[in-house]
Amino acid sequence: MLIDTHCHLADPAYEPDRQQVLDRAWAAGVGRVIVIGEAPGRAVAALELARSEPRLFATAGIHPHDARDWSAGSETWLRDLLRDARVVAVGETGLDFHYDHSPRPAQRHAFESQLTIAAETGRPVVIHAREADDDVAAILANHPAVTAILHSFSSGMGLLRAGLVHRHYVSFSGMVTFKNWRLDEAIRETPLDRLLLETDGPYLAPVPHRGKRNEPAFVTHVAAQVAAVRGMPVEELIAQTGQNAMRVFQLQSGVGSQEPAPQTPAFDS
Ligand SMILES: [Zn+2]
Repeated sequence: MLIDTHCHLADPAYEPDRQQVLDRAWAAGVGRVIVIGEAPGRAVAALELARSEPRLFATAGIHPHDARDWSAGSETWLRDLLRDARVVAVGETGLDFHYDHSPRPAQRHAFESQLTIAAETGRPVVIHAREADDDVAAILANHPAVTAILHSFSSGMGLLRAGLVHRHYVSFSGMVTFKNWRLDEAIRETPLDRLLLETDGPYLAPVPHRGKRNEPAFVTHVAAQVAAVRGMPVEELIAQTGQNAMRVFQLQSGVGSQEPAPQTPAFDS
């Protein structure tokens, strides 16, 4: 199953035509979308979307850009949201030393707190890492109970390998179709059972849509490119990455099922 494991579908960019965006996704063969809730308001909106459509699931967390806002109240807020089985991951969180929108100590603190809550609640964590590879690797190594998803991977091979040692997942976005993409090695080196696909919409639209608003239907272009780099049939890649997404996010296979997510992943490969 084709799964967009990372789309900011609660973003105002989708306000005018969100239903058409979703209709195009289903028509393109997308079977599930993980809606990222990277700030308090966004997470609530992501969960509302997930409650309104069985093929949507939400995450909740605070982006490193907003880490200065993290407080004891945030911990309570996040734990409360994670009581809902449709909130399938924590994040996105991590470190961004490129923009430094929040002070680095605040970024580290918010990241560590969210990892701790993820470990307590049995959720994987969606990781944003930019120009902070060594710090992200070191912090993840301090939280061995957590399964991480290195999202929109564009970091160095050092972080990739450090992550793979701990059996983390690696998610590739439309960046893999860009002319200046230099990380085919990362696509090849990620084991097939750790690979995920995403759009990161509304950002990073893949070629041939580059520069426009991205949307879940465009994950087909990401799938095609990753399959080409790995020299495998795209159908096989879609099947395998779909299984990976179901496993890491503990998604139920029955569409519309409201059963609570199992707390232990089913290792089916
Ligand atoms: Zn994102």
